[in-house]
Amino acid sequence: MKREHQNRAVNYGLRSIGATMRHHLLLTLGVALAIAGAVITGLLPPLILEKAVNLLSAGEMFPFSLALAYFGLLFVAGLLESCKQALLTVFGQKITRELRHELCQKLTLLPAGVLSMQDAGAVSSRFVSDVDTVENLFDDGVVSMIADLVQVVSIFVILFSRNRGLSLLLLVVLPLVFWYTRHVQKRTLRAQVDNRRALANVTGLIPETIRNIRTIHNSGSASWMRTRYGRYVGDSYRAIEQTNFFDAIYSPIILLTNAVVVGIVMLLSASGNPEIQSFFGMQVGTAVAVISYISQIFTPLENIGMEIQTIQSALAGLTRINEFLGQEETWKKVPGTGRAALSATDVPAVAVQDVTFGYNSEETVLRNFSLTVRPGETVTLTGRTGAGKSTLFRLLLGLYRPDAGQIRIFGQEAAGIPDNEKRALFGYVEQNFRMVPGTVLDQITLFDDGITREMAEEAAKTAELDAVIRQLPKGYDTPCREGLFSQGQWQLLSIARAIAASPRILLLDEITANLDAATEETVLKAIKNAAGGRTVLSISHRLSASLGGRQIALAPEAGESS
Ligand code: ATP
Ligand code: MG
Repeated sequence: MKREHQNRAVNYGLRSIGATMRHHLLLTLGVALAIAGAVITGLLPPLILEKAVNLLSAGEMFPFSLALAYFGLLFVAGLLESCKQALLTVFGQKITRELRHELCQKLTLLPAGVLSMQDAGAVSSRFVSDVDTVENLFDDGVVSMIADLVQVVSIFVILFSRNRGLSLLLLVVLPLVFWYTRHVQKRTLRAQVDNRRALANVTGLIPETIRNIRTIHNSGSASWMRTRYGRYVGDSYRAIEQTNFFDAIYSPIILLTNAVVVGIVMLLSASGNPEIQSFFGMQVGTAVAVISYISQIFTPLENIGMEIQTIQSALAGLTRINEFLGQEETWKKVPGTGRAALSATDVPAVAVQDVTFGYNSEETVLRNFSLTVRPGETVTLTGRTGAGKSTLFRLLLGLYRPDAGQIRIFGQEAAGIPDNEKRALFGYVEQNFRMVPGTVLDQITLFDDGITREMAEEAAKTAELDAVIRQLPKGYDTPCREGLFSQGQWQLLSIARAIAASPRILLLDEITANLDAATEETVLKAIKNAAGGRTVLSISHRLSASLGGRQIALAPEAGESS
């Protein structure tokens, strides 16, 4: 199963690369040329060095053109290497942008019910870190790995042509070096993951502390919070120490290996034994080139280790992205009855028929529930906490689909109503106001171009909040922030937001639950202003908040008929 997921992710990854390559042919060509150029120019300088030293040691003149070629090649190699990096980054970013675009589209297509069941942090890490790992797949993954492999093999072939004994020695040493490199890299990575986890705990703890600061002081939990903080910081410190340790030991051991290999080869090449000489003997110039190549071969080897790591995590990221993109967009499949039905007056505003629903398979919240509400009618729903009142509203709003039965809003199946038609249909007021970043006006319009400033002001007047808003420093254009309004006023703002688009149905969920009697009066008055001619469904624990009209009691898991 896991393999199948991974294969699908690989396919998906290859398709994304293929598509990006097709769209950006010139860029692809540039990347390929830069890589080939960087590898070749990187290999040539030691060969020139070999020639130069051999000429000098034979007492011949050192041609100026050779020196020029040597430094020229070093310069071009550096230039091509930067080109390669820059082009790879551009290429990776193009893929990333397309991936994020696709993810974003999916996000808007997924039903709210499906999304609300998922952990917000996990979903956003699909967008951020998983996409980043896929970008790395190109920057530091597949392409660089091919370049590094070519480099290792080419150096090896050159060394084999110069000194067979050395290449045999390297056949033993290189696998050991690679094993050591992977070992250190894996340990380092584990320590880095531990550190990130510890840091995430710390960054989570700080907002938690700020949010609950009053409770922390009131309950004397400050020292407990401090201990937790200290523990996370300690975890992070230990993990960083481990990383530092591995960082510190890696390079010296590689340098030592390098020196030992060079030492052995030099000793053997200088030995008088003709048999050893046939394997290890070489000219002075060749010796210089060989020393340079040996030190060159360790770097790509180390890179390959990291690249394997990058590819592994990119595959994991791709698998998760693929899973996200593969989720079913259930509401698209519900056949809508079209806009016409929404304006009909002869059908019930709300028709709930034998609905059974549970958020998960273990627990049923509503069982065989039925309710019919005529256009213009006011209905108050009561029932003890947990009876499923708010759940019923979410079903009416089409955020979830019932497991059995039917829900029709003006004749149209609730889950099939397109999002862009919902605001003209439902005004939904919750127990708590949910602020969006922006001004007070934005809170009412929700950035909907269809709602003009006049409409928003009219809504605020109906909600009895217009005068309060006008007294703010910048009136409707005051940036919204916590503490700008009292709890009752936030509720009035909620009502203004709900009625701004003149919806046909008002859904009021416990909107006066947290208010004192006087404020409750104001809110009820605002609601009565807003209710004019509309269908109103109101949830209330306390009948005192009733708006009149019919009362329906919801018992948990029991069917209530209208
Ligand atoms: P209250 O009067 O306290 O607001 P309610 O009648 O509105 O209660 P609901 O919020 O509809 O009750 O909850 C009904 C049941 O559904 C509860 O048992 C609750 O645990 C469960 N429930 C509510 N929301 C979810 C959710 N998002 N996921 C899983 N279960 C949920
Ligand atoms: Mg509720």
